[in-house]
Amino acid sequence: MKQLSKQIANACTAVAIEDLNMRGMAQGLKLAKSTNDNGFGMLKTFLSYKLAEQGKSLVVIDRWFPSSKLCRFCKTVQSELALSARVWNCSCGAVLDRDINAAINIKNEGCRMLGVA
Ligand SMILES: [Zn+2]
Repeated sequence: MKQLSKQIANACTAVAIEDLNMRGMAQGLKLAKSTNDNGFGMLKTFLSYKLAEQGKSLVVIDRWFPSSKLCRFCKTVQSELALSARVWNCSCGAVLDRDINAAINIKNEGCRMLGVA
């Protein structure tokens, strides 16, 4: 985890992450407790430390930001999006990969928060 956070910090000017509710997510997905307290929180801590060492920013996006449900093209927010929907169609005609769309939305929101949008 330390090595990964170091690689990410070295490669990036800033990092934007979603402040995921891991406990709620673990419960929602019925994951084991061990998966719960885990990795993500630790990575966030290490990343924060490594980025700060280099004078870089870790931007934490609010957990309620609709990263998955927001169409990155037309900015429409879907009211419903099942967790099982890995690809979805927006009313604007865009076909969106859930994870790629969310990652781009998180990057854009991070840039906006840093004032570099
Ligand atoms: Zn759209």
